[in-house]
Amino acid sequence: MNYDIFMPKLGTTSKYKLTRISVEAGQEIKVGDKLFEVEAGKASKAVYSEYQGVIKELLVEEFSEIEVGKPVLIIEGEEGQTKEKETVAAPKPQSTTSKGGIKGGYFDIKIKKAKKDMTCDIAILGGGPGGYVAAIKGAQEGKKVIVIEKDKLGGTCLNRGCIPTKALVRSVEVLENIKSSEKYGLGKFEGNYDLGKMIDRKNQVVEQLVSGIGNLMESNNITVLYGAGKFEDKNTLLVEGKDFDATVKAENIIIATGSRPAVLPIPGIDNPNVLNSTEILDMRKLPSSMVIVGGGVIGMEFAFILNSLGVQVTVVEMMPQILSIVDQEVAEELHNVAITKGIRIHTSAKLERIEKIENGGNLVIVEKGDQKINLVAEKIFISIGRALNTEDMGLEKIGVEMEKRAIKVDKYLQTNVEGIYAIGDVNGQYMLAHVASTEGFIAIDNILGKEKKMEYHAVPSAIFTHPEIACVGLTEKEAVDKGFEVKIGKFPYAANGKSLAAGEEAGFVKIIADEHGKILGGWIIGYSASDLIPQITLAINNGLTVEDVVNTIYAHPTISECIPEACHGVFGHPIHLP
Ligand code: FAD
Repeated sequence: MNYDIFMPKLGTTSKYKLTRISVEAGQEIKVGDKLFEVEAGKASKAVYSEYQGVIKELLVEEFSEIEVGKPVLIIEGEEGQTKEKETVAAPKPQSTTSKGGIKGGYFDIKIKKAKKDMTCDIAILGGGPGGYVAAIKGAQEGKKVIVIEKDKLGGTCLNRGCIPTKALVRSVEVLENIKSSEKYGLGKFEGNYDLGKMIDRKNQVVEQLVSGIGNLMESNNITVLYGAGKFEDKNTLLVEGKDFDATVKAENIIIATGSRPAVLPIPGIDNPNVLNSTEILDMRKLPSSMVIVGGGVIGMEFAFILNSLGVQVTVVEMMPQILSIVDQEVAEELHNVAITKGIRIHTSAKLERIEKIENGGNLVIVEKGDQKINLVAEKIFISIGRALNTEDMGLEKIGVEMEKRAIKVDKYLQTNVEGIYAIGDVNGQYMLAHVASTEGFIAIDNILGKEKKMEYHAVPSAIFTHPEIACVGLTEKEAVDKGFEVKIGKFPYAANGKSLAAGEEAGFVKIIADEHGKILGGWIIGYSASDLIPQITLAINNGLTVEDVVNTIYAHPTISECIPEACHGVFGHPIHLP
C-alpha cells in the first residue's frame, strides 16, 4: 500500500521550510527512521516514519516551503507496530496522489545543537566536481581545507547528473546490443528489462562513487561539514548542520554551489506528471508516452534512453535545431537518426501550457509559429535550463557582484571580493563537470599565488545519445563568423575497418581548420565519440595543425584512425575514401 507522508502542523503557521530530506527514492526504511526535518520557529523538528517499506517518491525539494497537509513523500509498505516517540496527528490532506494513510509521521524537537568554531586556509562551499576536486588539490598543496556540503558529496554530477544518466545509458546500450544480436551472427535473444532494476543499478553506481569521494576526503585530511553554509563576512561562513552549528573562518573561500533544475513559469507546470531531471532519474515505471520539453543535451540523452525502452517520445525544442550549440551538420545527422528510430521532434516550437485530461493523460499545448500543436502524453519531462544556487548564502551581505544570475568572476576566477572565488555552474561560464573541476585547479593555483588564467578555447563536451556526439572548439559557422578562411575535412565511420568490424558504421569525424591547417574545431558523431575527442582537444589546446595529426602514427585497427583521415581531407583527400 502507498502512504502519503504530509507536512504536519507543528505550530501556528500554515507552512514550514523543509531543511533536510533524510531519505531518497528507492531507499528501504523501517519504523522510526528519520524522513525529513523542518524549520519551525527557531527549532529544527524531525519527522520520523510510522511505516516500514520503501520510499516510493519524493514529491518536493529540499529547502522549499511546504504547506501543512501537503504531501512530502510517498512510502510503499506497511504500517509499523511500534512507536518509540510521541505521535502527532497530521491534518487531513488537501490532495493526494496515492491511496493509503494520511499520517504525517511523528517528530521530536531538537533545540540543543553542538557549536563548532573552526579555522582553515581554504573553505569550499559545495562538494560537487568543482568543490571536491578543488579541495583535494588544495590539500595536496599542503593547505588546511574544509568542505561544506548541504547534501551529498559529488553534487549534481555524481548524484543527479553525469553519472546516473550514463549508468542508464549503459543499461540501454547493453539492451540495444542484445536486440541486435542476430546482426552479429549470434541468433536471437529476447531483451526484456525492468526499469526498477536499472534504477537500482544506477543507485549502486552512484553510492559507490559518492562513498569513494568520502574516502578521498578522508585520505587527504579534508574536513567535510554536512550543512548549509552562508557568509557572515568575507572570511567567515556560518554552517547549519543537522545537529550542529559551526563558524568557519578561512583566508580564502571558494563558492562551488552549482545549480538545480529551473522551474518554468508555465500554466500546468505543477502537474504531478511533470518531471525534472532529478525526478526522472528515479522514475521506476515506464510511461507509455513522454513529451520532452527541451531538445538540448539532457533532453536528447533521455529521448534516446526512453525510445530504446519502448516509450513513445516527442521532443519539443524552441530553437530551429535540436542541440542548438552543436555544429549544424552534426545536429542534423542526429535529428535524422532520431526520427528513423521513431522519436518525434518539433523544432521552433514553444511550450505554452500543460493541462490534465479528465480520463487520464495530459495535454501539452505547444506554439509553433501561428499554429498550436496539441500533444498527449502520460508524462512530461522538462529539461530546460538550470537555476544557479546563489540564494540564501549572504552574497549581498559581503557585496559579491553578480552578472545576470551568475556570480561574476575575472579570468583568475576571483569575484570582486578579494579572496573569494567562484567555480563551476555557479559562475555561469560552462555547465560541465570537467570545467568545474578544471576551474577548481585554477582557483587553487591562484590562491597559492600562481596567477593562472582560466582558458576556455579547448573545452570538450560529449553527448551520450546513440550514436554519441563529442566536440571541441568552434562549429563551422562560428569559425566562418569569426572571419577564418575555413577548411573542412570529413571522414565517415562507414569507411573505417574497426567501425565495420564493430557493426557501428553510423557517423563521421569533421575537422574544422584555418587556411594554415591549424585545427579550430573537431566534431564527432558515432560510436565511442566521447573517447576519441581528447585527441582533438590536445591538438587544439596545443595549437596543432592537421599536418601534425597526420604525421602521428595511429594504431590499427582503431576507430581513432578516422581522425587523421579527416585531417587528410582538409587540404587533400582521405586515404580510404574513393
Ligand atoms: P554541483 O555539482 O551542482 O555541486 C554543487 C554542490 O553544492 C551540491 O552538492 C549542493 O548540494 C551544494 N550546495 C549548494 N548550496 C550550498 C550551500 N549553501 N551550502 C553547502 N552546500 C551547498 N556535465 C558533464 O560534464 N557531462 C555530463 O555528461 C553531464 N550530464 C548531466 C546530466 C544531467 C541530468 C545534469 C542535470 C547535469 C549534467 N552535467 C553534465 C552537468 C554537471 O552535472 C554540472 O555541470 C556539474 O555537476 C557542476 O558542478 P559544480 O561543482 O559546479 O556544482
